[in-house]
Amino acid sequence: MKAMVLKKVSSVEKRPLELVDLPDPIPDVRQILVQVTACGVCHTELDEIEGRAAPSKFPIILGHEVVGKVVGLGPGANRFQQGDRVGIAWINWACGQCAFCLKGQENLCDAAKWTGKDADGGYAQYTVVSEDFAYPIPERFTDLEAAPLLCAGVVGYRALRLTGMEDGMVLGLYGFGASAHIVIQAAKYKYPNAKVFVFTRPHQEEHRNLARKLGADWIGDTGDASPEKLNCAIDFTPVGLPVREALRNLEKGGRVVVNAIRKVTPIPELDYTEHLWYEKELKSVANVTRRDAQEFLPLAAEIPIVPEIQEFELNDANEALILLKEGKIRGAGVLRVSE
Ligand SMILES: [Zn+2]
Ligand SMILES: [Zn+2]
Repeated sequence: MKAMVLKKVSSVEKRPLELVDLPDPIPDVRQILVQVTACGVCHTELDEIEGRAAPSKFPIILGHEVVGKVVGLGPGANRFQQGDRVGIAWINWACGQCAFCLKGQENLCDAAKWTGKDADGGYAQYTVVSEDFAYPIPERFTDLEAAPLLCAGVVGYRALRLTGMEDGMVLGLYGFGASAHIVIQAAKYKYPNAKVFVFTRPHQEEHRNLARKLGADWIGDTGDASPEKLNCAIDFTPVGLPVREALRNLEKGGRVVVNAIRKVTPIPELDYTEHLWYEKELKSVANVTRRDAQEFLPLAAEIPIVPEIQEFELNDANEALILLKEGKIRGAGVLRVSE
């Protein structure tokens, strides 16, 4: 099979992914073999490539927003049939036995494996995964549309849930890329009387136009004071500053949720009175559980959420990642892997 592999930590600008021929993977016990048709490009890949969240093995095939067709079953696999369309997300495996797993917090499992970081992912024509960690894809999405739902969508949905958002509240979104443009659609649907304020870097016109089109009630710069205090906010950016700005704009008792695996710059010093007093809360979102994906995918179909896609060929994964790093992708970048 053709695969884009990462052999070592590198800067993204060096175009470190190499197109190589590899033997097709063979599904192990209760695994499925998936012919990949589409794979989303996620910010976490930048963290993996550049070493902030380095893969646990090299060479590695990145990619954890994988859509494809079941073309082989390992011994004992019986959940899917040949030809079924499935998705694979960030959570690749969890132990099922530790205190976290037993409480439904498999996203915090110490032994968990992450797709494209500890196990080969979707930047390739084929991949294998445990059948328990694959999801049916709702009919209404094309393969390319479904891909960004699997991380940008699922993690965004988890972040939205962790904010404690209720109808009528004011939600702030910092950064408006792949995840935020899906979250705004879920928020507008679930909370029809809520207001959503979007904060971007100045001059990110593409992102602002998309936010306007998707119903943002106000759009401003990261450093702006919001027109009303925010009851909750989600920070999707890769940098530290918006965390402080979101806390500053927060209403008493509000919560900021940070949807990022790593930050490339530190969070600036916080002033207790201005940023935290009055029971303001700051929380991160770490990984996802299977339940997040199982709940979100049908909801996305019901709304329906229509992701904006910017398409790339598998061979152009390096270019897609560079554009992502520069904040130049409108909506979500997706690799078209095979027909
Ligand atoms: Zn991701
Ligand atoms: Zn566990």
